[in-house]
Amino acid sequence: MDQIQIIVIGGGAAGLIAAGRAAELGASVTLLERMDAPGKKLLITGKGRCNITNTALLKEFLSAFGPNGRFLHGAFHRFFRDELLDFFRRRGVETENERGGRVFPVSDNAADVVNALVSYAKGNGVEIRPNSRVVGIERGCDGIISVQLESCEILSAKAVILTTGGASYPATGSAGDGFKLARGVGHKINPLYPALVPLVLKETSFAIACQGVALKNIRLTAFACDKVSIPEVTIEHDYGRGTGYEKPAKPIIESRFGEMLFTHFGIGGPITLLMSQAVARALDASPVSISIDLKPALSNKELDTRLQREFAASPKRQLPAILRELLPEKMVEVMAGISGIPLGRTASNFTIENRRSLVRLLKNLTFEIKCTLPLGAAMVTAGGVELTEVDPKTMASKLVPGLYLAGEVLDLDADTGGYNLQAAFSTGWVAGEAAANFLETTGTRES
Ligand SMILES: Cc1cc2nc3c(=O)[nH]c(=O)nc-3n(C[C@H](O)[C@H](O)[C@H](O)COP(=O)(O)OP(=O)(O)OC[C@H]3O[C@@H](n4cnc5c(N)ncnc54)[C@H](O)[C@@H]3O)c2cc1C
Repeated sequence: MDQIQIIVIGGGAAGLIAAGRAAELGASVTLLERMDAPGKKLLITGKGRCNITNTALLKEFLSAFGPNGRFLHGAFHRFFRDELLDFFRRRGVETENERGGRVFPVSDNAADVVNALVSYAKGNGVEIRPNSRVVGIERGCDGIISVQLESCEILSAKAVILTTGGASYPATGSAGDGFKLARGVGHKINPLYPALVPLVLKETSFAIACQGVALKNIRLTAFACDKVSIPEVTIEHDYGRGTGYEKPAKPIIESRFGEMLFTHFGIGGPITLLMSQAVARALDASPVSISIDLKPALSNKELDTRLQREFAASPKRQLPAILRELLPEKMVEVMAGISGIPLGRTASNFTIENRRSLVRLLKNLTFEIKCTLPLGAAMVTAGGVELTEVDPKTMASKLVPGLYLAGEVLDLDADTGGYNLQAAFSTGWVAGEAAANFLETTGTRES
């Protein structure tokens, strides 16, 4: 067998494109994948449809990653959305734009994305070795990097690209190995947190009663305090990364308007997932509570006026019937139960205090967060290889010559919407190119 020049560890989004690009530039590349085939996680992205990227403008795109998004300037400058879409188009994967700027293959089939990447790699001569789990990396004083497989086989190469992903959905192969491998050669690993993950409520019985209820057009706000300490604040716009209001006043953690869902253990749905990473971090330092504003279009006063109007129009209506006008059916009983208002009270007998309690309940329904679901259940891993130890223009390790890192193993994570995959593709492309150029500069291309 020819001498391997570049070893790519991990055949996901970043690894497949990195391997293909390095081989396209003439390097002999072997890709080691621990699963029986590459691209297992890609196959389940976007519910099997693969949300490849997003049409957001660059500034907005970067802000979806929070402060660490700055690191991506270099990679996006070299290979961004237009280049990615062109890459797939040339390989027969046409795409279309959907709500929120999400870009999907027209076929709605993630397998087309994986096939295009695998044929790109193989077509350029990459040897893909499935069932090859890497358990160690070591750089010798001769500048050669050895890679040890679980089978005890040792391979060596002049350059290694680490694209092992995060620690989420371990059944797809991304089980956090890359963090150990990078730590083993001296890299700092920033604490890992689940991102894009549902939240577990302490009020389990409420969650169970409302399981399956999707709430649209509501405002969800997370606070770094227990629920009795939630301050009375009027929140007029979203807070959180990608919103333009990154630093809310304490104790607000994030606030989002949109859709959420009750599950048997707590809450999920789009806006919950978006704020989950910030909540996971906040839970380290303090209790976290959430407040749901079920009627964000109305102020407390406006809601009170509306209730008075409705009470006057239907004075005989009792509490459950009143709630039925305001809430999904499945929430009526449990909300009546926690309202403190007698069930049989008719609208005409509501006291001012009863009405105020109802307004409070609808505008400020509070819960305490017990925890997030674990990292394995998160869509993305936040934290990872410290970015200041990686050259943002080339993805080269600043600590280990010949080592490159790309994709989710880096301390990069973004909102849903195709941002995470674009980051994996862009950093992977740049790493593949830089590793191939590294061979040129060290004069090992011809060996
Ligand atoms: C359910 C779900 C849906 C998602 N949907 C979207 C979406 O639609 N759009 C989006 O932008 N993002 C989405 N994401 C996030 C996105 O999938 C990841 O951010 C992206 O796949 C990261 O790419 P990667 O190449 O860094 O890692 P991965 O794609 O995770 O690939 C890492 C590869 O390395 C291999 N590996 C790990 N350890 C070893 C080892 N020791 N030796 C050899 N090989 C190893 C793994 O088996 C795996 O194949 C989703 C994530 C999940 C879980």
